[in-house]
Amino acid sequence: MMNLPLNVDFTGKVVVVTGAGGVLCGEMAKAFAQAGAKVAALDLNEDAVKKLADECKAEGYVCEGYKANVLELEALEAVHAQVLKDLGPCDILINGAGGNNPRATTDNEYQHEAKEGQKTFFDLEPNGVDFVFKLNFQGTLLPTQVFAKDMVDKQHGCILNISSMNAYIPLTKIPAYSGSKAAISNFTQWLATHFAGSGIRCNAIAPGFLVSNQNRKLLFNEDGTPTPRTAKILAGTPMNRFVESEELLGGVFFLCDDKAASAITGVVLPIDAGFAAYSGV
Ligand code: NAD
Repeated sequence: MMNLPLNVDFTGKVVVVTGAGGVLCGEMAKAFAQAGAKVAALDLNEDAVKKLADECKAEGYVCEGYKANVLELEALEAVHAQVLKDLGPCDILINGAGGNNPRATTDNEYQHEAKEGQKTFFDLEPNGVDFVFKLNFQGTLLPTQVFAKDMVDKQHGCILNISSMNAYIPLTKIPAYSGSKAAISNFTQWLATHFAGSGIRCNAIAPGFLVSNQNRKLLFNEDGTPTPRTAKILAGTPMNRFVESEELLGGVFFLCDDKAASAITGVVLPIDAGFAAYSGV
């Protein structure tokens, strides 16, 4: 059982979470289930969402896992039909699937520091850049096309996208990821406007820097001391620390709660220990 940050009640709400096989959205899916929602956990990684669903069921919560590629419209429509049968029409959609790719990442921060043999800006692969833009942008647009239909029918619903710190100001090395997350912040405003008359709110969270198993080695040396990149991150973060994944849940619950956030649509909420607010000076 998780220690939930807000006492909100999502009883009976059908919450569809894409990328629920991953770290952040798996935790969100579990938290919604614990708060009474009927959760549809979608991911390319079927084993991960089936495991998540089993864990939730073992605690007495309602959660079903579905294999779904957020880039395949027909497959998403088939999953939608199954979710309708199993749980009912979607009330809340969390567009969590997303990420970066090494083919769209430079080895060096600055061209003038590039060394022989490193992947520079000039070596970025067009298909790697396409992959990242497609995953983050289309991977948010397509599930929204499929699941927001339920919300239009009910004239009620909520969409939550996942933006990032690099949507505000790009981070070095990852131009495609930064650009695609900027597109997500922009698209959040577009959706908010487009669906406002249909009773649907659309917002996003922009998580700050989190330590995960994938990036731990980049952030900390074996003896636990921070790497140079970590020192830069912390120097740019007024609260001088990383964000814990469970610290995202308060913002997620708040933005998805119809009472608490009834007049809030089109915002991107940074949950970042102050990173986006600080100029560095
Ligand atoms: P993660 O890699 O743990 O999870 C992402 C999940 O998406 C994985 O389970 C993966 O299988 C799934 N996925 C990938 N491609 C898919 C596809 N085509 N169809 C369906 N599922 C697919 O990542 P995470 O750290 O939990 O990140 C979740 C979201 O938060 C992403 O949008 C990410 O960009 C964003 N984000 C993460 C951080 C961070 O520090 N971890 C910071 C800001 C934003």
